[in-house]
Amino acid sequence: MIKEAKQQGLYDRVIAQVDMASELMSLNDTVRKILSKPFNEITVNFPVKLDSGKVEMFTGYRVQHNNWLGPYKGGLRYHPMVNMDEVRALAAWMTFKTSVAGLPLGGAKGGIQIDPSKYSNAEMERITRRFTYALGQNIGPEYDIPAPDVNTNAQIMAWMTDTYLSTLPPQERQKSLHVFTGKPLSMGGIPGRDRATGLGVVIAIEQWAKEKGMDLSGSTYTLQGFGNVGYWTAYFMKEKGARLIAIQDASGSYYNSKGINIDALIAYIKQNKGLISGYADAVQITSQEFFSTVADVFIPAALENQITETTAPLLNVKLVAEGANGPTSSEGDRILGHRGIDVIPDIYCNSGGVIVSYFEWLQNKQGDLWDMDSVVLRLRQRMQIAWAQIREKMAERKCDMRLATYITALGRLERAYLERGLFP
Ligand code: NAD
Repeated sequence: MIKEAKQQGLYDRVIAQVDMASELMSLNDTVRKILSKPFNEITVNFPVKLDSGKVEMFTGYRVQHNNWLGPYKGGLRYHPMVNMDEVRALAAWMTFKTSVAGLPLGGAKGGIQIDPSKYSNAEMERITRRFTYALGQNIGPEYDIPAPDVNTNAQIMAWMTDTYLSTLPPQERQKSLHVFTGKPLSMGGIPGRDRATGLGVVIAIEQWAKEKGMDLSGSTYTLQGFGNVGYWTAYFMKEKGARLIAIQDASGSYYNSKGINIDALIAYIKQNKGLISGYADAVQITSQEFFSTVADVFIPAALENQITETTAPLLNVKLVAEGANGPTSSEGDRILGHRGIDVIPDIYCNSGGVIVSYFEWLQNKQGDLWDMDSVVLRLRQRMQIAWAQIREKMAERKCDMRLATYITALGRLERAYLERGLFP
């Protein structure tokens, strides 16, 4: 990854994005003021016994940004870079994401500052359970519902759900299953949650391509990140006939003009600690070469601040589809705009995950069982409705898609607030 000299704080970026949209739509001042601060910020420090018998202290976070539209909702991330500023920004983006998607949910985010590769599976289970216990009643099925994010998955959600339920009286347990989403199927998970974000990214790209009169079959793309979002995006892009010609993850960058074989790559990383380094059927390239690769679409699906004043000038694509949250810095965004590169913004592009999490939440609340076809159909419908609303705002306000997406999100929050009013 190419490093940036100076970086804008992530939460400052959120505020800058909200400010720009607020000016354009003349957002109510009180609404703007309230949305500029998260409602609750929780930091927990908790001890865990390691395999060696030593005890280590860990720091975890949960930020609950806003719940005007419904219970707080958002993922939990395990990463060494997790900090309050990042979690705060990610929580605010969740508020806008659930709003754009038209869900009855608010926004939250959390995580632990940890490098999971340094701990055994048994240690990860104890850390996860102790974190859940430390969060206590700050989360809850009708109050704040976490889900997977970077370095967390269905197994982590299973441990968390089991721990949370164990703290409740026996009669309360079954009816509280919807306290987490992204669970394994055996614990009330929903078919398709694993692939939901990647599928949503491809649904977004399809709509863009349709408007441009472009056929995705035979198109090329580059991808950063080959975890949950990256892999499933590649899986569905392959179904559309698109060719992955360059890929980057935390371990390096690789290029193959004929197209990287997704099935072979996923089989390879399963034997290689989840990393693409050393993959033989592609040439290793530098990060600079990766960002400069000529392709139709670039899909960042890793971390924040990847498209910056350094990398945005290198991009040689027609579209950036933001699978990751916050991959483009303010300066990067400005450069993409000047260069005429379209952007499908994160708070719409990767909303497939939270949309299907909402379906899982409903399924558990109703004691229902959804099938894959219904999940895919309803996900597609929701993303198409939101797309149409955003495009309408773009035409109305003559602005780019990011601003139009914020205007759509803020408009719904403003209506909710003004009708509800302020207590007391
Ligand atoms: P993941 O942990 O499954 O995968 C992360 C990937 O990013 C890995 O391939 C990793 O090697 C790569 N990566 C990490 N550091 C990198 C670096 N410095 N340079 C290049 N690549 C790097 O995570 P995920 O769940 O796929 O999430 C990826 C992004 O998508 C995050 O921004 C997350 O917030 C966002 N997102 C995830 C979901 C979801 O449902 N999982 C939903 C919406 C948004």
